[in-house]
Amino acid sequence: MRLFIEAVKGLGVTMKHFFLNMFYHILRFFHLSHKKGETVTTQYPEEKRETFTRVRLRHRLLSRDDGRLRCVACYMCATACPAQCIYIEAEEDPRNPLEKKPKQFIINLGRCAYCGFCVEACPEDALRMDVHVPEISEYKKEDLLYDIDKLTHW
Ligand code: SF4
Ligand code: SF4
Repeated sequence: MRLFIEAVKGLGVTMKHFFLNMFYHILRFFHLSHKKGETVTTQYPEEKRETFTRVRLRHRLLSRDDGRLRCVACYMCATACPAQCIYIEAEEDPRNPLEKKPKQFIINLGRCAYCGFCVEACPEDALRMDVHVPEISEYKKEDLLYDIDKLTHW
């Protein structure tokens, strides 16, 4: 009997929040109130959350003054990446036979944990993560594969 009473009490709390939240959602739907009330859901994409100033998100590859990528395809970032979401294919750099350059450099942002290890590992300061760029959402998973073109244009 006691268990039954506790279960009913718990159900009562759930129902209270359910109807209260639904009430606020209905008000918002008819533009009668913009207050969140009990609801905590961010109505993305109409509403966007402020990101913390220390947040680093979108990756980018830096170039040198002569236009060549700073990346020398050393694989240090790919090795440091705990999510294994960096794919690099190296090739000879015809403009400097002593160095290599990435033929392909792809970061799968769908798998990325945004830990920043890749940036820390880079000996050439070729990879950075931007502050305050929260718009990385895409409709298709394939669009989260950032290649050299996407990583050098932002
Ligand atoms: S931020 Fe972390 S998880 Fe994302 S690519 Fe860099 S090392 Fe990998
Ligand atoms: S660690 Fe830096 S230089 Fe090496 S492959 Fe990654 S981005 Fe390129």
